[in-house]
Amino acid sequence: MFRKLSSRWLKRIGALWLGCLLVLALGYFPSQAQDSAAVWEVGTEPTFPPFEMKDEATGNVIGFDIDLINAIGEAAGHPVKIISLPFDGLIPSLQSKTLDAAISGMTITAERAQTIDFSRPYFEAGLAIAVVEGNDSIQSFEDLKGKRIAVQIGTTGAEKAKEVEGATISTFDGAPLALQELLNGRVDAVVNDLPVTLYAINEANLKGIKIVGELLTEEYYGIALPKGSENLATINAALGELIENGTYAEIFGKWFAGEPPDLPEIAPALSSGTASGLDWGLLFRNLMRGAWVTIMLTFFSFLFGLIGGSLVAFALISPFKPLRWLCRVYVDFFRGTPMLVQLFMIYFGIPALFQGLGFDVSFNRFFAAVLALSLNVAAYLAEILRGGIQSIDRGQWEAAESLAMNPIETMRYVVFPQAFRRILPPLGNEFITLIKDTSLAAVIGFEELFREGQLTVATTYRAFEVYLAVAIVYLVMTSIASMVFKRLEAYMDPIGRSEKQRKAAAKPAPLGA
Ligand code: GLN
Repeated sequence: MFRKLSSRWLKRIGALWLGCLLVLALGYFPSQAQDSAAVWEVGTEPTFPPFEMKDEATGNVIGFDIDLINAIGEAAGHPVKIISLPFDGLIPSLQSKTLDAAISGMTITAERAQTIDFSRPYFEAGLAIAVVEGNDSIQSFEDLKGKRIAVQIGTTGAEKAKEVEGATISTFDGAPLALQELLNGRVDAVVNDLPVTLYAINEANLKGIKIVGELLTEEYYGIALPKGSENLATINAALGELIENGTYAEIFGKWFAGEPPDLPEIAPALSSGTASGLDWGLLFRNLMRGAWVTIMLTFFSFLFGLIGGSLVAFALISPFKPLRWLCRVYVDFFRGTPMLVQLFMIYFGIPALFQGLGFDVSFNRFFAAVLALSLNVAAYLAEILRGGIQSIDRGQWEAAESLAMNPIETMRYVVFPQAFRRILPPLGNEFITLIKDTSLAAVIGFEELFREGQLTVATTYRAFEVYLAVAIVYLVMTSIASMVFKRLEAYMDPIGRSEKQRKAAAKPAPLGA
């Protein structure tokens, strides 16, 4: 009977699978056939106003670049689909041809032109230095020596900042984050594209920041395409047409006051420069430096997480209701919200909140990262520890009581040693998860292992090799951690240990001894 039943079930599952496949195929192929004929998938990093930004009301990406690429698409007879990506992910996506093009205020540089193609220039820009209003010590590029500078990853601003002697550079995923860092007082200056900083100051309510000195560079933005893309000529022709017929000037006038300047047909930057190749020795050194930061972050966060988690675990089983309730709220909050949100809240949110209230509060980056990670880890560990302690049979407490042990002694000698053995495996899991989660600290400009890899990709565009190397280093670290926890488990197992000792004792003594 069982066999009959199982074969019926097998048939049902098989039919379900086939049904799913059919639905997928019907849903997928027609749209594929339509898409591949005409739609251009264009990548952009949507935190670069006024070139690209999210429209609060509709959630769509809007901006000068978006209007321009839509107009180009219209002129060329290709509908445009905007895809949001991180800025340092655009060039790798073009290399792998997962995008048809990218428009993202991207400067035409000779280095980039080695791996991707650029359209003719569509905007004239340049880099500028931004400082907080009260700061008069920085007036020029030379004054940046030895200062703390925030930049956006993979940008020309990040490259320029590298030229400053003795500067401490923090790298962020978006220009607004770098400017927020400046406002929060953790850096002395931001090197960024002038139109974007100006927009942030004038339109986006980022008061208290000013531009100093002259333009550091003259740059031209271009639409980026995969190397050898057949769309290049079409895009250039359409862009030329829009410049001729006044549509370009119209779009320019919508986003910037005044008339657009004349644009060259070829960006001056394309006459010099080469891409920096991948130096394996340098990559190794950078990854080792990042791995050390990752280890430090993991170690301190786990240590504080363990201390905090133990306190919360005891509070969770304490007889005081309000305390129990408070800790439950804490655990639920930190387990129920993404670590990334917690990190942003602590690092960017809290100082901004206090500054809004008139207090000068700003966190050290390491402190903020360790605080966010340990608060999160403590919430998980508290539950693991609580579960472990409560899994020990009540009878053991009673037995200990009959031996005249007080609750602390019972916990110390009876309950905890047994509970510890049970919580070791989930504790090990948590530690390994933490090693990997430290990579989230990259978003606050922390140069840990993952960020070191990102920084290398941003200048070499060798995404596969570099991220594979990063993954291998993580794997080595997590394997070592898992080995250590396995050893610890074996050591803590009294039965296994006495078995081993018995075997060792039973071994015959070597001859002649
Ligand atoms: N123009 C700068 C560059 O190309 C910054 C672009 C951006 O952040 N979107 O590097």
